[in-house]
Amino acid sequence: MKYVSTRNKNVSVSAHQAILKGLAADGGLYTPAQLQIHFTPEQFLHKTYQETAAMILSAFLDDYSKEEIREAVQKAYDDKFDDKDIAPVRSLTDTNLLELYHGPTSAFKDLALTILPTLLTDAIRKENCQDTICILTATSGDTGKAALAGFKDVPGTAITVFYPEIGVSAIQKRQMQTSQGNNVKVIAVKGNFDDCQRMVKQAASDPEIIAAGRGVSLSSANSINLGRLLPQIVYYCTAYAKLVENSKIKCGDEINVAVPTGNFGDILAGWLAKAIGLPIHKLICASNTNNVLYDFLTTGTYDSRRPFHNTMSPAMDILVSSNLERLLFLKSKKNDALVKDLMKQLQTDGKYTVPEELLASIQNDMTGEWTNEEDCARTIHDTWQNEHVLIDPHTAVALHGLKQYQQDTKDSRPSLVLSTASAYKFSHDVYKALTNKEEADDFKAMKDLCTLTGYPIPANLANLENLPVRFHTVIDQEDGMSTIRNIMEELSHAHH
Ligand SMILES: *Cc1c(COP(=O)(O)O)cnc(C)c1O
Repeated sequence: MKYVSTRNKNVSVSAHQAILKGLAADGGLYTPAQLQIHFTPEQFLHKTYQETAAMILSAFLDDYSKEEIREAVQKAYDDKFDDKDIAPVRSLTDTNLLELYHGPTSAFKDLALTILPTLLTDAIRKENCQDTICILTATSGDTGKAALAGFKDVPGTAITVFYPEIGVSAIQKRQMQTSQGNNVKVIAVKGNFDDCQRMVKQAASDPEIIAAGRGVSLSSANSINLGRLLPQIVYYCTAYAKLVENSKIKCGDEINVAVPTGNFGDILAGWLAKAIGLPIHKLICASNTNNVLYDFLTTGTYDSRRPFHNTMSPAMDILVSSNLERLLFLKSKKNDALVKDLMKQLQTDGKYTVPEELLASIQNDMTGEWTNEEDCARTIHDTWQNEHVLIDPHTAVALHGLKQYQQDTKDSRPSLVLSTASAYKFSHDVYKALTNKEEADDFKAMKDLCTLTGYPIPANLANLENLPVRFHTVIDQEDGMSTIRNIMEELSHAHH
């Protein structure tokens, strides 16, 4: 199977090459050249998470042997997860939550970042690559820690994470700052996620930076990397199977799926699940006050020129959602010239408008909703009050988005809401939503929340307060490129 750049179909590589490179040299994102993979929903029934993962990943990563895939899957989805189902489904009165936060860092990013290091290590071997792989990662909070945990001391790799100094939760920040491992660096940036992402993308095609790193190759652990995207298809399929097995739906029934969306990676994986045969009617793209995707899905104009809001769901505080580029490519019948032009407009004018047929085709599969801070807090509160289920702000945005969608359309198909993080990562805001009280100390809020709800604090978070802080560096945005150049030089020296 071949993967091509969204900005030039003639740039065509195999899966392991795409994983190794992260971003295509022309700035495009590697995307399946042809989607000929098809599964029937029956094929997902009565399988373990690992079996379904191996089945789906083997289809997409056909340049990896069955044995390589099986080993990567076994290594990733083991007792690092505190639930034997890996991604369990919990039913509420009117919908179902897909709990994606049982991994080592308590966010859904773990589902991909526990397997990506093995896929990348395999790719290094397949290419007989002698370079050190320098993984630059921009994070709005959760990717950072999940990537740091995944790549910790992985031979042949070094990872640097850039996070917005203001915006991530106190717990997320502490998770990253206390990271262990000899090949990791964590740097705060005076800016927001979009600034961090721009830095990382710019570095990938900066000739000076590439020249500085002789013996060093750049890659990415962001969802622009194909190796992040593909493993995320799996849990849509296992969740569907669980709904069938628990008699919530009959096999073949259509469901709606609400996805709390930031960089558009998770929901794009959902779209791919639908494309390969999972009976999804609509994907509900749920945003917070940074509702650029809602506006796009409603009007066809993507306009990033707007105020940036710091919200209690920081993983969705994003104005430039990278993976939308892949959907535009796939939905425009792979019109690379169009995608290239739109992305150029985004860069120069901060906005673009897609042709009407393209918008209509996207709207067939997807609809946008957005939720303000007050409704988000109320949803956390009410879900606890009415269902005795504790949800985090991102999940609340998706749950509220689903309810709005159902009200607006009267579409009563069975539904699934992606629950993307442990509430304890956002203990300050969740505690406040439940009690209407401020607790300035996030760790105290965590313990009080535990006393209040009886929900166990995940082990990785319970211990956080006592770990030494290793990383303090804060940089100005303008110093991003020189910082990356220094990292490349350092790695280059170490390499020789
Ligand atoms: C990353 C993240 C999201 C958004 O996912 P994207 O793939 O970036 O759209 C939503 N919720 C949480 C908790 C996250 O960490």
